[in-house]
Amino acid sequence: MSKMANDYNAINLSQGFPNFETDQKLKDLVTKAMNEGYNQYPPDSGIKVLREEISKKIKSLYGKEYNPDSEITITSGATEALYCAITAFVNKGDEVIVLKPAYDTYEPTIKINGGKPVQIQLKGENYKLDWDEVRSTVNSKTRMIIINTPHNPTGTILSQEDMLELQKILSETNIILLSDEVYEHLIFDKEQHQSVSKFPGLSERSIVCASFGKTFHNTGWKTGYCVAPEKLMKEIRKIHELTVFSVNHPMQRAYVDYLKDPSTYLDLSNFYQTKRDLFLNLIKDSKFSYTPSKGTYYQLLNFSGITDENDVNFAERLVKQHGLASIPVSKFNINEKDNSQLRFCFAKTDDTLEKAAEILCKL
Ligand code: PMP
Ligand code: GLN
Repeated sequence: MSKMANDYNAINLSQGFPNFETDQKLKDLVTKAMNEGYNQYPPDSGIKVLREEISKKIKSLYGKEYNPDSEITITSGATEALYCAITAFVNKGDEVIVLKPAYDTYEPTIKINGGKPVQIQLKGENYKLDWDEVRSTVNSKTRMIIINTPHNPTGTILSQEDMLELQKILSETNIILLSDEVYEHLIFDKEQHQSVSKFPGLSERSIVCASFGKTFHNTGWKTGYCVAPEKLMKEIRKIHELTVFSVNHPMQRAYVDYLKDPSTYLDLSNFYQTKRDLFLNLIKDSKFSYTPSKGTYYQLLNFSGITDENDVNFAERLVKQHGLASIPVSKFNINEKDNSQLRFCFAKTDDTLEKAAEILCKL
């Protein structure tokens, strides 16, 4: 969709990236690191001082202490962390439960490793998970469950009750939990992010993936990390070494200093909530219907009040005829059934959101 947006010179609210700059202070720290000579391979698991900073951050936010030496690895974005986690543990014939709609790398990675994705649909307007369905889907072949909160593309979040249900279901099993928490700092309306790291019965069997790109407005730097108990991390690191070996050195160095100021990530929810509210306020008189996003920088809009076209056709027409790009939600879903919604990324300047809303209000 980004290519189509460029080809048609359209406003691009499709792919999830900000159209504003990362903090100059952070860029200066990268330049400083380069000038100080941090330009050769860092250790494969990432530089120790950064792993230590991440450990402190997680301890202060979620109360769980991960050992920087053996339980934290810096990765080339969350994408690589997800790839390594699935590849390390999923083998031929293993089942992996995926909650649909789902981010698009999970299922292909499961299949590359010979595993079988088993899909459970999130239901209703609020995309709720039916825990009885999870309970009845789990069986002796289930190797892993993948969760994602806040959730791309729906903007829903898992609650504390959800996490406790999951903890109960997994307690008698050897199932590994893969928790994609790349939007942990984008959560709205005073809700709290429920990291699996907060729940001892979950964290002991979990791999948590995070992304600096989402948090610090620099998705192109492709820097993230994963945390997991030592026995799991040992296996993930074997795959990580073979995949990228190590991750760019100067950026790692820069984050060591940058993470020391928690306001760099704690202010993010307010920042994005203001953008969500602006966008929704601008389109409140349009023919779209919606439930406000509770987290991430995405907003789903239902267009059944405008046309009965499917979402792929409507998204294409929106770019070509009206100059606005979005993502058709069926691309994240099962059997393309949920096909009257589009995903809009509101990580954009106010000016861009205003121009996009003007188009949406005319439909
Ligand atoms: N998981 C989800 C749910 C995402 O939306 C993204 C977005 N890119 C990723 C993982 C990958 O993150 P990264 O850009 O750090 O590889
Ligand atoms: N996570 C972003 C999205 O969902 C983009 C990642 C990508 O394009 N691969 O739009």
